[in-house]
Amino acid sequence: APILIWLRRDLRLADHPLLTEAVETGAPLIPVFLHDEVVEGQGAAPRFRLGLSVESLARDLERIGSKLVLRRGGALGCLRDLVRETGARAVWWSRAYDPEARARDAEVMKGLDAEGIETRDFEGHLLFEPESVETKTGGYYKVYTPYMKATRDRDPGEPLPAPARLPAPESWPESERLEDWDMGRGMNRGGAVVAKYCVVGERAARDRLDRFIAQRVEDYAIARDRPDIEGTSDLSENLTYGEISIRTCYRAALAAREAGAEGAEHFRKELVWREFAYHLLHHTPRLISRNWRAEWDRFPWSEDANSPEATAWKRGRTGMRFVDAAMREIYATGRMHNRARMIVGSYLTKHLMTHWKIGHDWFADCLIDWDPANNALGWQWIAGSGPDAAPYFRVYNPESQLAKFDPDGAYQRAWIAEGQESPPETALDFLAAAPRSWGLSAEMPYPDPIVDAGEGRARALDAYRARD
Ligand code: FAD
Repeated sequence: APILIWLRRDLRLADHPLLTEAVETGAPLIPVFLHDEVVEGQGAAPRFRLGLSVESLARDLERIGSKLVLRRGGALGCLRDLVRETGARAVWWSRAYDPEARARDAEVMKGLDAEGIETRDFEGHLLFEPESVETKTGGYYKVYTPYMKATRDRDPGEPLPAPARLPAPESWPESERLEDWDMGRGMNRGGAVVAKYCVVGERAARDRLDRFIAQRVEDYAIARDRPDIEGTSDLSENLTYGEISIRTCYRAALAAREAGAEGAEHFRKELVWREFAYHLLHHTPRLISRNWRAEWDRFPWSEDANSPEATAWKRGRTGMRFVDAAMREIYATGRMHNRARMIVGSYLTKHLMTHWKIGHDWFADCLIDWDPANNALGWQWIAGSGPDAAPYFRVYNPESQLAKFDPDGAYQRAWIAEGQESPPETALDFLAAAPRSWGLSAEMPYPDPIVDAGEGRARALDAYRARD
């Protein structure tokens, strides 16, 4: 009897423990992707980008004699139908760690188990399972550096090869059409601009990693902080949908380190930040939904997502060039440089005294590399409310940060059209993407700061002192 292979954030063929084991059984395999309640609940850009990934995987599966069956609806109901239609004896998937997906998976497991259908979840999304890393007293880690040290000498094993063929069933169950799902709905800006900046699929992800190791890893430790140059791997977009495995990236980092590449160790440590984020989210799911440290519940953050300040922030019209360039970059491309994420996060939660949740949710709607663990940890870290957080009183100055990390002004020119005689394509892409209701144009004057950098800092620090 066939095995249903339920694919979610593991949209690849290589280094896929579930696929390797499934092929070894010799049973016919039916790969399935569900547009279920979890996909439904995702933000617009992540869902749009997910659709591109599903399309790419479907093509790759056809090349090895298989297919991707698409169904839309509640996960348990869809899987029950498929079991009935195909006579499958088992449903297998790769493990997920965010609370929503975990709740869904638990329900599916219970429902199918009760009917005598075998269910199994596999490793593959992480280097080390969250509960396999423990402190000396048997607890979990709340701080990155000790976590990193605890995993430093662990061997995640070698990546597995992609299967040459997947055994097919005698007949395929019906599949819906991806086009009919309109996964770009909710993208007020349409998908065309963002799609220009996407690099999709397993082969492209592998090329990206190889190019990064060949050309950029050497200078990574310094170049990674500069939003005006291409200094990082850009792999987050691929890692989040599992188009490449974290183990493949980690192994490449170790090999580069062995070969003497300067920045390789730093790159390895950034990959471990992702592990740490999952470790923490697994042990404390509240990371995603509320202040990790409850004392922050008393802090007078504005929770109005449509306040004039939050609106100016989202639209890139705060009058702070670093912030505005970054907020335009995210809207047009679905990406934002890490340094810029820190600046816009600090500015929102400190200068604008606005709750990190509002930034978190906007990112979750805009990012093509949206990752439930990394996004939540990033926001709680920058806001100061997380377990291992930058202290709240560390307020980044967006003006001096811009002078330091965009010394020639290339980043701000790339995104801010106002005042430029012939703005570059990137800045025009943002204007093309921005909804008409925002009323933006290249001809309008660039705004004065809505909050002065010094005054905003002082106000935030006063509120912080008053909290205690
Ligand atoms: P590289 O520098 O090439 O790093 C390689 C990989 O390491 C990344 O792809 C990522 O998987 C991991 N990594 C690097 N830095 C971090 C970090 N600080 N935390 C966790 N993992 C890291 N990352 C996401 O993948 N998705 C998100 O939704 C996300 N939201 C963020 C929100 C905020 C407020 C902040 C401050 C950071 C966020 N990050 C997020 C982390 C980081 O900004 C991105 O992973 C990074 O910019 C991606 O670019 P890259 O792939 O070129 O990274």
